[in-house]
Amino acid sequence: MALIVQKFGGTSVGSVERIAQVAEKIKGFKAQGHDLVIVVSAMSGETNRLIGLARDICADPDQREMDVILSTGEQVTIGLLAMKLKSIGVPAISYTGAQVRIETDSSFGKARIQHIDEAKLRAELDAGKVVIVAGFQGVDGQGNITTLGRGGSDTTGVALAAALKADECQIYTDVDGVYTTDPRVVESARRLEKVTFEEMLEMASLGSKVLQIRASNSPANTTCHCVCCTVSRGPDLITLEEDLSMEQPVISGIAFNRDEAKLTIRGVPDTPGVAYKILGPVSAANIEIDMIVQNVSKDQTTDFTFTVNRNDQRRTEEILRKVATDIGAREVAGDSAIAKVSIVGVGMRSHAGVASKMFEALSRHGINILMISTSEIKISVVIDEKYLELAVRTLHSAFELDAPEQDSDHI
Ligand code: ADP
Ligand code: ASP
Ligand code: MG
Repeated sequence: MALIVQKFGGTSVGSVERIAQVAEKIKGFKAQGHDLVIVVSAMSGETNRLIGLARDICADPDQREMDVILSTGEQVTIGLLAMKLKSIGVPAISYTGAQVRIETDSSFGKARIQHIDEAKLRAELDAGKVVIVAGFQGVDGQGNITTLGRGGSDTTGVALAAALKADECQIYTDVDGVYTTDPRVVESARRLEKVTFEEMLEMASLGSKVLQIRASNSPANTTCHCVCCTVSRGPDLITLEEDLSMEQPVISGIAFNRDEAKLTIRGVPDTPGVAYKILGPVSAANIEIDMIVQNVSKDQTTDFTFTVNRNDQRRTEEILRKVATDIGAREVAGDSAIAKVSIVGVGMRSHAGVASKMFEALSRHGINILMISTSEIKISVVIDEKYLELAVRTLHSAFELDAPEQDSDHI
C-alpha cells in the first residue's frame, strides 16, 4: 500500500465522460489499497475562457480579482469528480486550495507556495477517503485567493507529494512522458526515460508545458519520484532523478515559448545607475524581467532591451515611457512577435562549443538571433516568432535528438 498523488490535467478531465473515466481509474487504485490524493486542473479550455471573460470586461484586469475568477475552473472539476466517485461507491471529498490551506505569497497570477497544511488531508486519508484538491491555487496570509501561474496544477501535485512525503507523484496528461521537445512541433521527438530534476525545472520555466513545476519557495524537493502518463496507458514512464551518474547527452531537451514581449528603450544616456533607473520601477511593479541586453554605447547613448511576460507588456511600456521622460531617453518600443528557444542539458557543464553549435545551426537557416542568455545548463535565444518552429526542428536535429527513423521497408 502506498500514498500516491495523482494529477489529472485539463484534457484528462475535459468532459463529463472523461471525468467518469478518471473516477473509474481512481476506483481501481483505491481497490488496490492505496491512499490517494488527487489534484485536478480545470476542464480543458476553461481557464482560457475565464481569462477571455475578464479581458472582455476590462482590458487590463485587476490581478487580485483575476485570481478569484481563474480559481473557479478547478473548483468545478473537484466537485464533479468527488460527486462521481461517491456515486460509484468510493468515499471522496473535495477541497479548494484555500480549504486545504495551501499558503502562498501574494503575487497574484504567479504565486509561490510557502506552506502546505497537511493535517486535514491526513485526517481524511485516515478516514479512508480519496482527497481531491483543486490544482493551481492557494491562499495568501491575508486570506486572498491566489493562482500559481499557467500550468500550475502540476506544481500543486508535486508540492503536495513532497509535503505528504508521498511514495509517488503521477502526472496524467495527453502525452505519455517528457519528450526531447514538444512532440506536436517535432514529430521525431523522443520520449526521455530519465531527466534530472534540475533539467525538468529548467525546461518547465523555459516553456515545456508537460510538467510545469516551479522551484524556489515551493516545498517540492528533489527526491520526488514523478511519472507522466496518459489515462489510457499505465504509469511507468519518466523518473525525475536527483542526479544522473551515467553518461549524459550534451543536450536533453529543447524548450520554447511565445509568452514574452521585448521592450527597447532607445537613446539612453550612458551614465552609471541608468540600468537601475530603468529596471527599478519595473521590478517595483512586481513585473518579472527575463533577458536583458544593453548595447555598446555610441555618442554617450545606448539602447537597452529586455523581455517580460506578454501579459505585462502594456504595463511595462507605460512605466518605461515615464522613465524615458525622466532620464531623457529618446523612445520606447515594444515587440511581442518574438519567441524564445532554449536548449537544456546538464551535459553542457562538461562540454565546450555548445553555444557556437547552436548559433551555427540557426545561421544556416538564416534565423537572426535578437537576444542571448546563458546559464550553467541552458542557452536561450530570442528570435522572430515566425521562425520558431523552424528553429526548434533545426536544433533538434543539430543536437542529434531525433528519434531513429522507423524502418518503413518491413510490412
Ligand atoms: P495538461 O492539461 O494535462 O496539464 P498540457 O497541455 O499543460 O497538459 O501539457 C501537455 C502538453 O505539453 C503536450 O500535449 C505537449 O504538446 C506539450 N509539451 C511541450 N513540451 C513538451 C515536452 N518536452 N514533452 C512532452 N510534451 C510537451
Ligand atoms: N487550469 C490552469 C491552466 O490552464 C492550471 C493547469 O491546468 O495546470 O493553466
Ligand atoms: Mg498543464
